[in-house]
Amino acid sequence: MENAKNTILVISAHAADFVWRAGGAIALYAGRGCRVRILCLSYGERGESERLWKMPGMTMERVKESRRAESAKAAGILGAEIRFFDAGDYPLRVTEQLVNDMVGEFRACQPHIVLTHAPADPYNLDHADACQVTLRTRIYAQAAGYPAEGKKLGAPPVFAFEPHQPEQCGFRPEVLLDITPVFDRKRKAMEAMEAQEHLWEYYTDLARRRGVQAARNSGRSEITYAEAYQRFYPQVTDGLT
Ligand SMILES: [Zn+2]
Repeated sequence: MENAKNTILVISAHAADFVWRAGGAIALYAGRGCRVRILCLSYGERGESERLWKMPGMTMERVKESRRAESAKAAGILGAEIRFFDAGDYPLRVTEQLVNDMVGEFRACQPHIVLTHAPADPYNLDHADACQVTLRTRIYAQAAGYPAEGKKLGAPPVFAFEPHQPEQCGFRPEVLLDITPVFDRKRKAMEAMEAQEHLWEYYTDLARRRGVQAARNSGRSEITYAEAYQRFYPQVTDGLT
């Protein structure tokens, strides 16, 4: 069981990714008293703001403002803090500044758990780039010689949250997290993402399906909703459970 002093760091390529894919985990850990910090690298202003661009007179600045407001609202509902980098969308620009800032985040937060995108996503290469920069900056933060403030990072486990089309991304659900107690909160956070209303039901259905699988794999019939995760590194344990 998690220590309430633990910190969870969530790296989201775009304004809404963390909501659909990890909203349950975020609400669950925040509810247990953990600090949950989201790094939102881009607003998804070009690739994931379709509905806003259909409105007359829309500008890039207004799209960004709207996505930022929705995202901040969703993070608040989930009980997390959020930092926006505005690092660009289509393409996400992994600059030296972004890398240094993210290493600084790892060193300052000393996360116990890291959540991010899967390594591949042929539908949005910025998701894969967000994954790569997460892994890279976690590794840099572990290196005593890397010039960043704070003490070097330990070895927090990294989990990929479920991509939109998991089979195409080579995603394998290795961990099913019971989010039943916080699903209402996740749904409210999803509804804060007004520009992507078409995904509210989609991700509710997905949580239900993963919930059925979680119950089947555990014998815990009380599980109704779940989120799937994949590990990047081996689990280290003193018992096989
Ligand atoms: Zn995205």
